[in-house]
Amino acid sequence: MSKVNGDVLECDRKYVWHPYSAMGKDDPMFTVESAEGVRLKLVDGRELIDGMSSWWCAIHGYNHPVLNAAVEMQLTKMSHVMFGGLTHEPAVRLAQKLVEITPEPLQTVFFSDSGSVAVEVAMKMAIQYWNARHLPDKQYFLTIRSGYHGDTFAAMSVCDPVTGMHNLFSNVLISQYFVDAPICRYGEAASESDMAQMKSCLQENKQKIAAVILEPVVQAAGGMRFYSADYLNQVRQLCNEYGVLLILDEIATGFGRTGKLFASEHAGISPDIMCVGKALTGGYMTLAATLTTAGISETISTGDPGLFMHGPTFMANPMACAAALASIEMLLSSNWSENIRRIEKILAAGLAECHKMTGVVDVRVLGAIAVVELDRPVDMMALPYQFVEQGVWVRPFGRLIYLMPPYVIDDVDILTLTRAVCNAVQSL
Ligand SMILES: *Cc1c(COP(=O)(O)O)cnc(C)c1O
Repeated sequence: MSKVNGDVLECDRKYVWHPYSAMGKDDPMFTVESAEGVRLKLVDGRELIDGMSSWWCAIHGYNHPVLNAAVEMQLTKMSHVMFGGLTHEPAVRLAQKLVEITPEPLQTVFFSDSGSVAVEVAMKMAIQYWNARHLPDKQYFLTIRSGYHGDTFAAMSVCDPVTGMHNLFSNVLISQYFVDAPICRYGEAASESDMAQMKSCLQENKQKIAAVILEPVVQAAGGMRFYSADYLNQVRQLCNEYGVLLILDEIATGFGRTGKLFASEHAGISPDIMCVGKALTGGYMTLAATLTTAGISETISTGDPGLFMHGPTFMANPMACAAALASIEMLLSSNWSENIRRIEKILAAGLAECHKMTGVVDVRVLGAIAVVELDRPVDMMALPYQFVEQGVWVRPFGRLIYLMPPYVIDDVDILTLTRAVCNAVQSL
């Protein structure tokens, strides 16, 4: 067994890129053999409690009989067919379901393969919409700093300019409009200075701005910030006032993670265009979707060139759609809202002692998301080994140690995760 592990790891180092990684380095790396419920099983037999949900996706845990059955059933019919000129029940039923559970004005669905592409699609929709309305200068986007919207070029152009390394790609990145990330935190009223920045940028540049694009309430990979829902609500009003669309990127926040089914519900607003991904399939396969209103769809479809100019090869993959439909139905038929409150409470209790530890700047919990913000970056050479030794899978970034467990995790396992985080913070 360990021989196989050695070989796999050796070849991995030699041939395989990992996310945001370098080749030829000795970064900690662990080989997973299987996963079940909230546990990842390593090839050496160790089991790790998953604190990450595989980057926010695996909300029902791993190897789930219901999701397995949905995928297996679809596999016996067809794994994939092209979506140009052909359709199939999994895609249609999933689109119907997404329209049903997202805010009312969203009525049409464009499927794509990943979150970044869903963001590209959203940005193209906004540009094509204004073009069809004979306002072709509206091709730029306004966003807030500390955001993350994906790694493809247009998505990257609206990521935080510093953490998104905009200087590295300066000649190919579109330069968009940025205002500071809101200082007003979740639970607070919008601050006047935050609103003033947004307002003056819209006022000055509305002829060029197609849409404001934001992660609602939780800025995820850009810094795990939780900002005021009132701010989001007022941004919605400003967009209406200045004739600018609002794109909400719910890729990280969708499907219950923040305590609401979609984070826009904290602000009681609806976007003109919305992106979902990550937990859409319960972490089973890669799938994302961009939803928009009947009005925008119609304007794009009737204006020049009379088509929406995008069409991925693997659009609406039937197995991914089947998994997504099963995942959403399972989520909705569970007592998910109460369950997220349970997780929130235990995460907060388990991390309470971190508040007083040296090096801790902030501890925050919202829904099934817990963040310990430190005053310095963690040691990514040592910390992963330390977590694995404690039987947990936690992957910090920068100055942030965070937990985002699968919703099926029990109280005892949550407390094992929070204990491991407390130990890690203490040992800094
Ligand atoms: C992860 C993420 C993306 C990108 O999704 P990929 O599937 O990794 O391309 C976009 N927006 C947000 C808010 C995300 O969290």
